[in-house]
Amino acid sequence: MAVSDVYGFNDKLIEAIGLQKRKLPGNEVQVVKRERLYSIKHKDAYCTKDRAFFRDLLKAVTPDPTLFMAKQAPGDYDWMSFHNEPGQTFSEFLRIPKNIPALPRKKIYLLPLVFFEDPVPKDILRLLRTYASMFFGLPVKILKPINIKSQIPYRDNHLSGTVQVDAGVILKKLELLLPADAFCLAGITMCDMYPRDSWNFVFGLANLIKRCGVYSLARYLSTFGDQKTTQVKVDRDSLNNLLMRSCKVMCHEICHMFGMKHCVYYECLMNGSNHLKEADERPLHMCPACLRKLHFSCQFDIVERYRALTDFAEKHEVNKAHDWFRRRLKQLAPYDEV
Ligand SMILES: [Zn+2]
Ligand SMILES: [Zn+2]
Repeated sequence: MAVSDVYGFNDKLIEAIGLQKRKLPGNEVQVVKRERLYSIKHKDAYCTKDRAFFRDLLKAVTPDPTLFMAKQAPGDYDWMSFHNEPGQTFSEFLRIPKNIPALPRKKIYLLPLVFFEDPVPKDILRLLRTYASMFFGLPVKILKPINIKSQIPYRDNHLSGTVQVDAGVILKKLELLLPADAFCLAGITMCDMYPRDSWNFVFGLANLIKRCGVYSLARYLSTFGDQKTTQVKVDRDSLNNLLMRSCKVMCHEICHMFGMKHCVYYECLMNGSNHLKEADERPLHMCPACLRKLHFSCQFDIVERYRALTDFAEKHEVNKAHDWFRRRLKQLAPYDEV
């Protein structure tokens, strides 16, 4: 039996992570620990030769079938039915020009943008800052909100009944505002956006080279479309829901600024999404291939990061996610009091 069949992950899914199969004697494949089936490729790309580092990395990126799932076939209206993306393996990620956080550019900036609607709620902004700092292992700063309504083209979208601003022009504006010590600048708005005339809307848009991105939370409100501008009235349940969706889109868009492309291999935070249902079904966590790319760029402690994300998800009742984070933490740190 081929090794890749034992746990249901085919060669393509293993190659995506930057792993290779090890030759094991006889029937050992049936009894060894999962991570002994593979070895880490591209060790030379790292600054260390420490064996414990690679042992821990291998354990963290070896796919466990109880936690990770191959990408399911897309439905008719899903992202992958419209966009024929080839994916990006870890090996391909290493070869492209990309941004790595390093002094002086190590800080992530969040910039609330206001157009016609209420600003992003302060509670959400503060939680997004905390979440981003744990997710990326980098310092995160919230800038003072700015209103750039007069500088950005807008239109009425008759399908949604909303006013939308041009996300491409916003990106150009953000380029001029990039702080000197910024790894990246992420604009956040409650206004609905469109990327080009022919598109209905876009959740977010990012420019890797210019280190800028913008994303909208407008479509995550239950009141979306009830009025032309978005008034933010949220109860506790909707706030938690808004938080979960905001964390997802923020981290997804910022990951693009590291040079990470959409994931076509696993069910993953980096999957593209074409509509709200697809965005909601996309998990909050990253697959092992995308985790390895981000870990390579940010060099965080993988277990510490999961510990912090688990605490956050439990504290803020981020539904569904805390169960996954807790099980993942248990897998990586079985002796923890979790
Ligand atoms: Zn994307
Ligand atoms: Zn992925």
